[in-house]
Amino acid sequence: MLVERIWAANPLRNFNYLIACSQTGEALVVDPLDAEQCLCAARERGFTITQVLNTHEHPDHTMGNAGVVAATRAKVMAHAAAASTIGGVDRGLGRGDVVKVGRTVELEVLDTPGHTRSHLCLLARVDSPALFCGDTLFNAGAGNCHNGGDPELLYETFVNQLAKLDDATRVYPGHEYMARNLAFTLDREPGNAEALKLLAAARAHDPDATRVTTLGEEKRVNAFLRLQNPEIVARLRERFPEIGEKPDARTVFVKLRELRNTW
Ligand SMILES: [Zn+2]
Ligand SMILES: [Zn+2]
Repeated sequence: MLVERIWAANPLRNFNYLIACSQTGEALVVDPLDAEQCLCAARERGFTITQVLNTHEHPDHTMGNAGVVAATRAKVMAHAAAASTIGGVDRGLGRGDVVKVGRTVELEVLDTPGHTRSHLCLLARVDSPALFCGDTLFNAGAGNCHNGGDPELLYETFVNQLAKLDDATRVYPGHEYMARNLAFTLDREPGNAEALKLLAAARAHDPDATRVTTLGEEKRVNAFLRLQNPEIVARLRERFPEIGEKPDARTVFVKLRELRNTW
């Protein structure tokens, strides 16, 4: 499986991805924003785009569909419940479906609501597994729930699905928010030395050189995956005394998300 990350260099800081078969060069484009930029990246790598997949229905993840389809006749896939909002979807997807790219790539569809109610992630179960997680999990952060989402559902997605994946899983999010999110982690957990180190590195290079983290690393620097951490819980209680002495993980997650909304 070949992965080409495309940095859109827009104010929303989107990442698009090309996932290609190393034998046939056929490629799937994830969340195309600027069609021309995606087409150009595919040409440079010698890939033929045959499929488009949207992780969810927000325009910054679907805007490039029409341009890519016009140029390549690619088939469009999205969560079945988001298909009518997106329009032009050829295949509606649900939990457990498999998306094949060329001869060698198989991607499992995870139904991951929270950022929106019809959001999916793609999981490649290869030697070095990979997760294309749209606006669900970010580097050192979690998606917001402002536009059709629900923090309780996002919590369940994190705990019941994402946190259970192999620690070696490479994380490919839909936006580049690494430095900002690490700063939030450090605001909540000032003693997190690894987050401090990563933040210095993230600030030292361009966003298109952002490192690809693993889920194991995320568990060490992402407050939304550290719901039992004593420092995080203690500082959260200072802010929200009503959560009591031993808040459950769900409460910690929802309050962290609430805090991040205005942070
Ligand atoms: Zn979104
Ligand atoms: Zn987005």
